[in-house]
This record gives sequence, structure tokens and C-alpha cells, in this order.
Amino acid sequence: MKKLMILSTGGTIACTQTSAGLIPTLSAGDILSYLPDARAVGQIDAKTIFNLDSSNIQPEEWKMIAREVFECIDEYDGVVILHGTDTMAYTASMLSFMLRGLKKPVVITGSQLPIGHPQTDAKLNLGHAMLTALSGLCGVFVAFDGTIMRGCRVAKVRTTSQNAFESINCPPVGEIRDGAVRLFAEPEQPREEPVLDEAIDPGVFLLKLIPGTRTEVFQAIGDMGYHGVVIEGFGLGGIHCLRRNLLDGIKQLLGAGVAVLLTTQCRYEASDPMVYETGRLAVESGILQGFDMTSECAVTKLMWALAHADDLNGVRRIMMTDYCGEISLPEGAGEFCGE
Ligand code: ASP
Repeated sequence: MKKLMILSTGGTIACTQTSAGLIPTLSAGDILSYLPDARAVGQIDAKTIFNLDSSNIQPEEWKMIAREVFECIDEYDGVVILHGTDTMAYTASMLSFMLRGLKKPVVITGSQLPIGHPQTDAKLNLGHAMLTALSGLCGVFVAFDGTIMRGCRVAKVRTTSQNAFESINCPPVGEIRDGAVRLFAEPEQPREEPVLDEAIDPGVFLLKLIPGTRTEVFQAIGDMGYHGVVIEGFGLGGIHCLRRNLLDGIKQLLGAGVAVLLTTQCRYEASDPMVYETGRLAVESGILQGFDMTSECAVTKLMWALAHADDLNGVRRIMMTDYCGEISLPEGAGEFCGE
């Protein structure tokens, strides 16, 4: 008999209406009771890890979730995590680095409307996630609105529509239609053994540039003790150097050993700061590049890299390695690692 574990962490799927607004109050067991036929797929166990709006999920909670998954996964064919949609992309990405070498699926889902709402998408998403968790995939995935996506590639792109998530710069790995999972390729078997690797440095700042961002912002970030900064530059990765020369601030941070990574504020397609002078100067200063990683992935991977490297070269090497399909490295990318 197949065995599934449902771990709940809160989010809209667990919400009920209160005088203070929507608050997650339902337990994993309560949520499961809305799907009376679910047990037809096999034995299902349910556990509430905590009950939080995902805006309150932070690095401490990522570690709790990773531990819960790792502790139970040997006993089950797959694990489903119920999670708020607002920060699901960050959690999915971070779990992809914390839980590597998984030989089974960990499938994260949630909903745009509470499970008790007449028009809810929760029952469909939970049912789909359960099927995906029995699909033989290996690693961390998000199943939402009938689409199965790599956890390290998802982004929430819509605030209210049911198709809230997209797989960015990477096709989905499968879909669920008429109650059946269709994978678009054979599941990749990981070469390494399953590992719980929860060492992260949460000291990462995400900075979205606007025309006129002042150079002093980098000084302030350094003074606050951050160890890493992800900069969302313009278009392919441009930063301004006229009047307010951001390069000065970036060089100062790099000189102080802070990892600075340049990516794009465009949702789709890769950054390539080497195309224009406004980006090339940054690359020449030693800035790291995000290529086609999402910002959610870039910040979580940088947190993870900072805890696994002794110096900036080590961080660069990690950021330039593809661990779970999170990055497409252009040809010759090794030269940015000094290789
Ligand atoms: N605020 C909710 C959360 O992220 C939104 C949702 O789950 O859809 O927890």
C-alpha cells in the first residue's frame, strides 16, 4: 500500500475568516477531512508543523520544515507540504538546497482560496499534490493549478488567479489532467545520497534598483552586517554609473568580502550584463552573476552558499554550479570562476 505524509504549515489553504481577517487555523487533519476520498490512494498521515501565514515564514521555519521532511521521508513514498502561496517560491527554492539527493518527491502546494470556500482551488491542488507525491519524481517540486514545476524555478506571478505560479526560464516537469500525472520526461535519479543540509547564512539583502538609487545604500547594507546582496539590475543587468556611481558602492562591499550578485528585474529570460558597458563594468569589478535564476532562487542559494564557502571565490564556485536544475550556465561560464 502506498504511503503519503501531509505536512501543513498554514497559508490560505488552512485559513478561516475571523474578525482580524483570514488566519490559518485548520490543522493538517482538518484540511485532509475535506477530501474524504483521498485515502483511496493509500495510507495518508497528516501532521501540522505550524500554522502561519507564509509572510511569517522565515529562515527558522525553513529549517523546521526541512527537518520534518527528512525525518519522515524514508517511511513514505512521498511528502506533501501545504504552504501559503506568498512565500512558497522562497521555501521551495531553499528546500531544494537543504534537501538534496532525495529519491522521492517532496511536493509543495497551497491555494488561493481557503479550503472551506465554495470556489476553492484547495481540494484540486491538494489532490494533485498527492498524486504528484506518488509519481516517482525525485526532489522538491511545486504542484499548482495542474502544473508540476521544479521548486527552485517557481515564482508567484499572480496575486489572486488560480494559475498563481509559473516555472521561470524552465519548462514545467509535468501536468495533472483528469486525475493522472503526466511527466514530460523520465524522472532524473540523483547521484548523491539524501542529505539534510540546513546550514544557511540568512544575512542576504535583495536590492531592486530604481533610476537614481543612491550609492550610499551599499554602505548602509555593509554597516548592517549583511554578508550577501542580490541586486536586481535593469534589463540584462544594467546599473547606473552616471552621477550616482553604484560601482563605487559595489566595489566597496566586494572589497569588504561581501558577496554581491547581479541579476535582472525582468521576470523572464536570463541576465547578461556583459552586453552593455553599464553591466560589463560591474562584472569586471568581480560581481557574481545570476544568469537565469529567479531572484527567489538567487537569494536562497546565496544564503546557502555563504554557509558553505570560506571566501568569495568559494561562494562564486557554488553560485556557478547547478545543483538541482536552478540555473542554465552559458558556455564558457567557468571563466567567471577563474577557470
Ligand atoms: N497570505 C497567504 C499566505 O501566503 C496567501 C496564500 O496562501 O495564498 O500564507
